[in-house]
Amino acid sequence: MIIAIDGPSGAGKSTLGKMLAKKLDLLYLDTGAMYRAVGLAVLETGASLEVKEKIIELAAGAKIELIGEPENLQILLNGEDVSKEIRTNEVGQTASIISTISEVRKILVEHQRTLGERAEQGCVLDGRDIGTVVFPQADVKFFLTAKPEARARRRFQEDTEKGRATTYERTLSEINQRDERDVSREDSPLSIAEDAVVIDTSELDLTEVFDQMMKIVSEVQTAKR
Ligand code: C5P
Repeated sequence: MIIAIDGPSGAGKSTLGKMLAKKLDLLYLDTGAMYRAVGLAVLETGASLEVKEKIIELAAGAKIELIGEPENLQILLNGEDVSKEIRTNEVGQTASIISTISEVRKILVEHQRTLGERAEQGCVLDGRDIGTVVFPQADVKFFLTAKPEARARRRFQEDTEKGRATTYERTLSEINQRDERDVSREDSPLSIAEDAVVIDTSELDLTEVFDQMMKIVSEVQTAKR
């Protein structure tokens, strides 16, 4: 079974994706982490964001691995654990810039398809283009969304808890900037797949969203039997 979860940043995709993967015993793929890993590689080498060829070369040469259980997922870049380093706002912004390059997307989409297809029981993938581009034939497609203020509030709380220095205003402005880039890029912009179930998580708590998602997955499982 392939479950696609798309939506803007801070809508709860990764938390809910991990919960679903755990409950259903499926592989969990955080595709945003892959774009972030390439973003980090770009920042570490000091490559200019203007020189596409260099960025494509870095993306092609980057060995990105996602290992461990969903709740303790580790992201390795060329053998090094970069799980923490990729979570900064700077890496997030760089990821969103390099993700507009078609060749970079092609490399990562191929990697995602290979990993997803190889997963015996199936896979939960979270991202921006899973239901539209990576797995258009996914068994279940969710599009999680929430008002920008709600998403910024959650992200800010998460950052504060993890000891990252930021302010709510800065988080909101960065979320808006990233959303704008993600919906307006030419290749695979963030959009709702025709057959996706849209859930607005602004006023719902995690359990409520999880229950809604599980109900839909169970219905699909029953129909497939
Ligand atoms: O999901 P996360 O916020 O970690 O993703 C970082 C950035 O990577 C996003 O802002 C988006 O630009 C890009 N991305 C993408 N396609 C995906 C996943 C992430 O373009 N499938």
